[in-house]
Amino acid sequence: MKPKFIFVVGGVMSGVGKGICAASIGRILKLRGYKVTSVKIDPYVNVDAGTMNPVEHGEVFVLNDGTECDQDLGNYERFLEEDLTSDNYITTGKVYQSVINKERNLEYKGKCVEVIPDIPNEVISIIKRAAEISKADFTIVEVGGTIGEYQGMVFLEAARMMKLENRDSVKFVLVSYLPVPHHIGEMKTKPTQMASRLLNEAGIQADFILGRSEFPLDAPRKRKLSISCNVKEESVISAPDVKSIYEVLLGYEKEGLGGKILKSFGLSEGKSDLKEWEKLVETIHTVKEKVKIGIVGKYFQTGQFVLSDSYISVIEAIKHAAWSLGKKPEIVWLSSEKYEESPEAIKEIGDFDGIIVPGGFGSRGTEGKIKVVEFCRKNKIPYFGLCFGMQLAVIEFARHVCGLEDAHSTEIKPKCKDPIIDVMFDQKRLLEKKSYGGTMRLGSYSCKLQKGTRAFGAYGEKENITERHRHRYEFNNKYRDALAAKGIIFSGTNTKRDLVEIIEIKDHPFFMGVQFHPELKSRPLKPHPLFKEFIKSCIKQ
Ligand code: GLN
Repeated sequence: MKPKFIFVVGGVMSGVGKGICAASIGRILKLRGYKVTSVKIDPYVNVDAGTMNPVEHGEVFVLNDGTECDQDLGNYERFLEEDLTSDNYITTGKVYQSVINKERNLEYKGKCVEVIPDIPNEVISIIKRAAEISKADFTIVEVGGTIGEYQGMVFLEAARMMKLENRDSVKFVLVSYLPVPHHIGEMKTKPTQMASRLLNEAGIQADFILGRSEFPLDAPRKRKLSISCNVKEESVISAPDVKSIYEVLLGYEKEGLGGKILKSFGLSEGKSDLKEWEKLVETIHTVKEKVKIGIVGKYFQTGQFVLSDSYISVIEAIKHAAWSLGKKPEIVWLSSEKYEESPEAIKEIGDFDGIIVPGGFGSRGTEGKIKVVEFCRKNKIPYFGLCFGMQLAVIEFARHVCGLEDAHSTEIKPKCKDPIIDVMFDQKRLLEKKSYGGTMRLGSYSCKLQKGTRAFGAYGEKENITERHRHRYEFNNKYRDALAAKGIIFSGTNTKRDLVEIIEIKDHPFFMGVQFHPELKSRPLKPHPLFKEFIKSCIKQ
């Protein structure tokens, strides 16, 4: 089959879950037997998401090849159960960087290089490469931002040019928002009509409209949108708010979206096997018994809002594991700074079935997190440290069990007496050059597990595993023997570079720290083994 492309664009406003819509469309096509991949376009000038503040932009997701990208790629991987690569992620910065590099290398053969068509052409070539590499029948391309924004124009131009090149292989889905103002109590279609016109101005006609709203779209609304937006009535799809993101695709299939999309490409509608997803959604709706997990971090507050986007993969990984064990996850945000301000506050940690300290950077709130680790270790509360959470766990152990009072990470205290966590030689050079973007230890690395350890058991007694990384600092091997003598088990190591990847302690319901980010590889139907093991211990508690 010739590769097909579905562009997903957003109307009216951001934040209506366009990424989930795109990911769900991908999954329903996969469930109908097609090979699917996704491309996310982010219109910002940053070359990648690695340099962005998680409070502003949400979590930085990391792919196997080390690409630091938008959290939507995480949704794609979770929904599609496919590993993506750098070609699945496009930013304005990345496209311009590539065009400028080619220009410098004389690849344009003396031609004047112009925004139009050279920039859209570059975008098109990346999209096609993503399709080719993954051998996808369908490539879902999500154009970030909202139609009408200046910064997204060049990407719509790329989409239009792709359609021009091959009319039958490119379709457009407009994900738009329909407000229901409380004072009139009626769903309004006008903003979506306007969005559709704006899309027309860019030379693009939507083939499908996904109407996002608090409520389902009724027949009169669908008719109105059909007439004014020039879209077949059956191609206006109701996409109301639902309890769980994993339910979205079932709603689409109820509206027959998968079959309609295939038909629009001239393909047979085929049959979809939704059984596993239906079972998952049923579990989500019916689990009652709670497992209460505290996440201790600092990237929560922006103004009056508490944002959990910075830890989205951790949240999803907890949910996947809890559901698979028939439990309802209750996640509570704990801001680490309060444990520094008031010594009494730490007692609340005792109310949790388990605690996670996720990834983090910089000194703010660090001592509070260390207090939490100490409390969990001493009071036998299941503790799972992810990346920074692993580093702080060994620092706590070094300080309070090994008596190395000034143990720290040189990231936080460069001149500490006992640099338990330190920067490697190659990283030191990069920091001196201020070469920050894309230079951490990133992406997939192998890890050898020590037989008989908790980690070894959790991974199903596999000796070699791979996990994804994103950090600059490492456990300092000089301290390995001292810590081992007092009970730290180094259960996972990268043998090529002799790096510590997993630590655990005995005689504790669960106390583990991992230098990598296991949350990035958890999938709704395939929870991550370490999260599953951790939640199991929390339940036992
Ligand atoms: N700040 C730590 C480092 O750079 C940990 C990073 C993380 O948790 N992702 O090594």
